[in-house]
Parts: sequence; C-alpha cells; structure tokens
Amino acid sequence: MISGVASESSSQLLPWQQPIWQDLVRRQQQSGLPHALMFTGIAGIGKHELSLRVAHWLLCQNSSGQADGLTESCGHCHSCQLWQAGSHPDFMVCQPEDNSRQIRIDSIRKVNEFLAQTPQISRCQVVVIRPVEVMNTNAANALLKTLEEPAGESFLLLEAERFGSVLPTIRSRCQRIQLLAPSAEQAQQWLQASGVSPDQASQALRYNPQAPLQAQLWLEHNLGEQQQQWLDLFGQWTQGRAPLDKVVAAYTKMELDDVIHWYAGVLADALKLTLSVAEDQLLHGGWLAQLLNACGDGATLNKTKLITLQRNVQEIQGGLLSGAAHHNKQLLNESLLLQWRALLQ
Ligand SMILES: [Zn+2]
Repeated sequence: MISGVASESSSQLLPWQQPIWQDLVRRQQQSGLPHALMFTGIAGIGKHELSLRVAHWLLCQNSSGQADGLTESCGHCHSCQLWQAGSHPDFMVCQPEDNSRQIRIDSIRKVNEFLAQTPQISRCQVVVIRPVEVMNTNAANALLKTLEEPAGESFLLLEAERFGSVLPTIRSRCQRIQLLAPSAEQAQQWLQASGVSPDQASQALRYNPQAPLQAQLWLEHNLGEQQQQWLDLFGQWTQGRAPLDKVVAAYTKMELDDVIHWYAGVLADALKLTLSVAEDQLLHGGWLAQLLNACGDGATLNKTKLITLQRNVQEIQGGLLSGAAHHNKQLLNESLLLQWRALLQ
C-alpha cells in the first residue's frame, strides 16, 4: 500500500482538520502545547499533513512563540523561507530508512543528537516521527528519555495509525490527539476539488472509505485496475478456471500490502454474506454471491474456517503494519488461496 507522500513544504489545512487546528493554536498561545503529541487515526486522513502544518507554524518566527503571534505561519520570515526550501535546520523527520519497514535505534539516536543541539533559526526544534508503531523495541527504549525530559524547547510530533500497537511506555509519555475522519460528503467534495470527476471520487472512496488522501493515491497509482486484475484472478481460482501457479505468480508480482488489503475486503464481504447482510452493504456488491452461485452446485462457505482465515489475514496485516513481518510472498499467496478454496463446500 502506498503511504502518504506530502512534501515537507506543503502545509495545507484539510477542511476536516479546521477544529483540531484551531484548538492546537489556542492551546499553544494560552499555555503552550505539551512537548510530545501523538496524532492518531486511520491511514489517508491527513496525519502527516497536520503534523507538517503544526511544525511549520511552531517554527515560524512570527507565530507561535508569542501569545499574540499569528495563528498561521507568516510565509515570509527566514524560518518560513527555509521551510519552503525544504532545508530548515531546526526540523527533522524520522521514518524507516534504507528500504527497512522499521524505525531502528540508529534513527532514534540521530533524533536524540539533533535535539541535544540548540535551535539555529527558530525558537524551538521540531521532530516528526512516523509511523510510531514501526519503531522496534530498542528504538523505542532509546526514545523514552527524550520523551520524558526533552532538551530545551523542542516538540516531538508522533504519527500512529494503530494506537493500540504503540508500546505502552511510548503511549503514556505523549498526549494523544485523535484525528477524526471526514464525513462522506467532505471527503467527496475534497476529492472532487482536486480535479477528480464525481464518479471517480465516489469509486475511490468506496475502496478507501473515509480516507480521501488514500483515495487520491489510489487514483493516481491506478490501483483500481490492479485491484480488478486481482479480483478477476480470484474469481477464476474460486471457480477452478485458473491453476494455482498462474494465480500465485500474478499475485506475487503485486505489492503484498495491497494484496492482503484486498483479501481482507473479500473476506469481510464473505462473512457478511454468511450473515445475510444486504448486497449494497458489501464492498463488492453482488460480485461474491454471483461468483459462488456460478461454482457448480451453488457453493457455500464454511463459516468456522472463514473466521479462522479472516483472523490469519488480520494478523498478517498487523505484522505488515508493525514493520516486523517478513513473508515469502509466493508461499503466503499460495497458502491463502488454498485456505480460501478449502472454505467452499
Ligand atoms: Zn514565518
């Protein structure tokens, strides 16, 4: 799955973040924000966009340091110029490096060294750490002291998709700011305003519910087409019209995160089918029911096995998100496809 790729100089305020932004500004101007904030919420609702905006504003020389400072970054001070150039010396982003999915201790040591210096341009230093749940234990331990006793005037802005997966020692040292997803209407409007047709916007949001930024990436990267290919092969495999090795070979070429996400969607639909949920409440509408009907003698699904498979897929998703999982894509796809076929009775 593609993650958000907001550039460091962009700090647009997403319309659904207006209330939270105003609250953060008011708190900073009245009594000061805590040194460690953790923005939490599902992927694609703008956690990184918000932390960049907060960072930009905290660093601006005309804004947050004064009680009567601006409630937006000014855009023309030395700090704002450096921010726009993407070379602010008092700002740092810490995220997985070198194709790793984890944040390792070396990266956190760099954060600690950075914060041990004094600010060069602004009144404070700001570090964004994302996503927090992929910090391994050593990295998390190395961050604890900094979270507890931040050096000088500094702010740590942490981003987490799964708050529950963040180590309790980290959680307890941050103030959590839970970001709410936009309403369906806000998401649709925002996506259309970015130049997408109403039909494209609603289709993208259907597969990326409440996550307009994810929906935007889904459109930009043509993921709809890939998802359709995945579904077609899944249908052929279910009906016994495609051999296992052909399906596995095609799936292995796709991004594992995407593939697992698509499995999860179909399995959720399958469970709803066994519970006789109406078709319009299903991600793929009537597709799965028709597929099963077309399987010879009208196949049904073994509910117990289905729940076990769904749990497996959720565990795989959790492992991928924590960055700790290492999978052999081919074996994993093979195993999931065989488990799926074993559900049909
Ligand atoms: Zn400024």
